[in-house]
Amino acid sequence: MIREKKGEEEIAPKNSKLNALKNRFAFRFLLPMSGDMQSDEVTEIDGSQGEGGGEILRNCIAYSTILGKAISVTKIRAGRPKPGLRPQHLQGILLARDLCRAKVDGCCENSIEVSYHPGQISGGNFLADTKTAGSVTLLLQTILPCMLFSNSRCSVSLRGGTNAEMAPQIDFVDLILKPILARFSIVFDLNIVMRGYFPKGGGEIVAQANPIKDMKPILLTERGQLVKIYGRCFVAGVLPVKVAHEMKSILMRNLNKAGLCSPDIHVNIDAVKESNAFGNGSGIQIVAETSTGCLFSGSALGNRNISNQQVADKAFNELMESLVTNANCCVDKYIQDQLIIFMALAKGTSQIRCGPLTSHTNTAINVAETMTGVKFEIESGQNSNDMIISCDGVGFENKYLA
Ligand code: ATP
Repeated sequence: MIREKKGEEEIAPKNSKLNALKNRFAFRFLLPMSGDMQSDEVTEIDGSQGEGGGEILRNCIAYSTILGKAISVTKIRAGRPKPGLRPQHLQGILLARDLCRAKVDGCCENSIEVSYHPGQISGGNFLADTKTAGSVTLLLQTILPCMLFSNSRCSVSLRGGTNAEMAPQIDFVDLILKPILARFSIVFDLNIVMRGYFPKGGGEIVAQANPIKDMKPILLTERGQLVKIYGRCFVAGVLPVKVAHEMKSILMRNLNKAGLCSPDIHVNIDAVKESNAFGNGSGIQIVAETSTGCLFSGSALGNRNISNQQVADKAFNELMESLVTNANCCVDKYIQDQLIIFMALAKGTSQIRCGPLTSHTNTAINVAETMTGVKFEIESGQNSNDMIISCDGVGFENKYLA
C-alpha cells in the first residue's frame, strides 16, 4: 500500500542531498575507525525490499548496534511516496548512534543512503526529538532491543507523536507489546509524560531498561478462550469527553451484537479525557485477552473527517479480524512483524501462531535472516488463515553481564 505517514510531513528538507554527499565523502576517507568499531565488514541492506518502508531501517540499525556489524542501507523507504529519511527515521538512527557511539554517514533528512558503523553500547540518559508528530513508538522500535544489550541501565526520552496513524499507539505498547515482550524476559519501564498528536506532536515518553543477559524464546501457539476485553476511548485538547463516551457506547453496542458481552468475558472500557496532552486528539485502543495470555489489538484514531461511529467501527473491526477471521491466531497482524527481531535474537526456538503473514512481517524476516543468519520457517496450520512462524534464535548474549 502506498501511503505517507501524516506526522512526518512537518519539516522541510534542508540541503539534504548536499549534506548526504559531504558526509559520505568525509566518512569514506576517515576509515578505519576507532578501536570501538567491531568489524570492517559491511553488510549491504536494500531498503527497497518487500514493504520498502522505515521498518527495514529500524530493524537493521538495531541489529547492527547489538551485533556490532557495520551496515550500509541503500534505497531507503523506496516503497513510499516520499522516499528517504523522515524525522522519525533520522532521530532513531541518531539515538542508536548516541547509545553506541556509532560512526554514521549520510544521516540527514531525505537521505536515501546511510552507513552505520556501531561501537560499544553504553548505558545512560538519551534523548530523541522528532520535532514533528513522528511516532515515538517507532523510535522505541529501534532503540529498545539495543538498550537491553547495554553495559548498564538506559533511559531514553522520546519526543513526537504518542498516538500516530500507521504506527503503534503508545497504549498498544503499554497494553500489548510490553506484556508480550515480558515472555521473552524483556522488562522495561514506560512513562507517558505527555501525549502528543498530529500535526504538532509535542508528546514525550520515557522508556528505561536494565540490561539483560539474553532473551528467552517465546511460544505463542495456544489460543485459549477469550476472557477479557479492555482498553480506552480517549480525547485530548479541545475535544469534549462526551466524544469519548460516544465512541465507547458505539463500541459496546458492537461488542454486544457480536456476542462478546457474555458473562464469561470481563469487559472494561474507559472513556477518558487526557490531562497531560499537547494538541487535540481522539481515539481508541482496546485489547482482547485469552486464558493463555494472547493479546489482540483493536485501534483507531479520530480526525475531523471521520465520525465517532467510524472510529469505533474501525477499532472493533480490527479486533474482529483477530477474534473471528483469524480464529486460531495467537498474535494480531500488527505485532507479528514487531516480534521478529526478538525471535531472531532469543536463545532457543520461538514459535508464534498467526494469521496470514503481513508484508511487514515478511520484510522483517528477510532483514533478520540477512543480519543474523538465522532461518525462519513458515508452516500453514489447519486452514489458510492459520500460519506458524518458527525460528531458532541466535541466542545473543550480553557480553557485559556475567
Ligand atoms: P514508512 O513511513 O516508510 O511506512 P514507517 O517508519 O513509518 O515507515 P512502517 O515501515 O510502515 O513505518 O512500519 C510501521 C510499524 O508500525 C510496523 O511495525 C507496524 O506493525 C506498526 N503498526 C502500524 N499500524 C499499527 C497499529 N494500528 N497498531 C500497532 N502497530 C502498528
